[in-house]
Amino acid sequence: MATKRDYYEILGVAKGATQEEIKKAYRKIAIKFHPDKNPDDPTAEDKFKEAAEAYEVLSDEQKRQRYDQFGHQGVNGGGFGGGGGMNMEDIFSQFGDIFGGGGGGGFESFFGGGGQRGGKRMRKGSNLRIKLKLDLEEVAKGVEKKIKVKRYDACNACEGNGSKNGSSLNTCGTCQGQGQVKRVVNTMLGQMVSASTCPSCNGEGKTVSQKCDVCHGEGRQLREEVISINVPAGVADGMQLSMGGKGNVPERGGIPGDLLIQIEEEQHPTLRRDGNNVMFEQYVSFVDATLGASVEVPTIEGKVKIKIDPGTQSGKILRLRGKGIPDINGYTKGDQLIHINVWTPKNVNPEERQILERLRESQNFVPNPGKNEKGFFEKMKEYFQ
Ligand SMILES: [Zn+2]
Ligand SMILES: [Zn+2]
Repeated sequence: MATKRDYYEILGVAKGATQEEIKKAYRKIAIKFHPDKNPDDPTAEDKFKEAAEAYEVLSDEQKRQRYDQFGHQGVNGGGFGGGGGMNMEDIFSQFGDIFGGGGGGGFESFFGGGGQRGGKRMRKGSNLRIKLKLDLEEVAKGVEKKIKVKRYDACNACEGNGSKNGSSLNTCGTCQGQGQVKRVVNTMLGQMVSASTCPSCNGEGKTVSQKCDVCHGEGRQLREEVISINVPAGVADGMQLSMGGKGNVPERGGIPGDLLIQIEEEQHPTLRRDGNNVMFEQYVSFVDATLGASVEVPTIEGKVKIKIDPGTQSGKILRLRGKGIPDINGYTKGDQLIHINVWTPKNVNPEERQILERLRESQNFVPNPGKNEKGFFEKMKEYFQ
């Protein structure tokens, strides 16, 4: 949150200003930055709201005292006085006393901002959250999952409006079906009309005279539904997918919420994911590492044969290009990295011991790392390239 400006500074008054001075200063600013007077200045509304908030606090002696003592912290949390900012309706309610009288200017003003002007509000239902377990193969290839969810859907009997047979509706008498009620107040700026949600019908414009028998007027029913989720390749644990319109339908109709799907990744028995790469620990015998061998390693796409070169050192990392996980945002694919571990026997029988004792003195078995032997740090660098 941006730093808040000092309320006295906003209104351009001194700390010791009288209520009359505060009122006068606010009136001047409100007229200057009134959004209807500044249709081409998008900052006007912010300045207008800022001034309204400052006035809201400074015009109330108790709030002003708390503000003087504790600053913005002192008036936060107490409704719209501090932190939350005021909406146009709150501001408008101030105008009754500040601009009392006057009037007759003849311009109408609808507060409430663009989309809602004069119309009925479309309500959105709540979101539905589920967890989806995927194994590494599914993550790598993408998958279509069919899952059962319980969600509120529109009632079939009344088509979601909650009235008997869907037709027992009356136009709301309070708002005449407009969904909003308007109040006219005379102010210095002229007659202002404030529109607010109709309290009788909650903005729906219609009232139910006889409730639907099936949903008891709620307009929706909890139903089990099989939903098919297309999971793209490359998702990761904790990621959230969202399916618009597959959440709950609100009471008595509206736009359904979203289905939010949280991905949970199951641990693979042998492969480990690291970003888009897949890691595998391959143990080779000391003999295979010395003489070379061919070994089978698991990958996401099945088993693959790899060659262990003669003289392979423990800790070597082999790379299978493109055998990792596709990037969810791009066209690249990770690799599979195979970490070679040379297995040192823990037990040997007398015969093996004899052979090894003979090898002990052999010049080839004395460690002799050359320039070509990459150290731990170089290996890490290679791995992260
Ligand atoms: Zn119904
Ligand atoms: Zn109404």
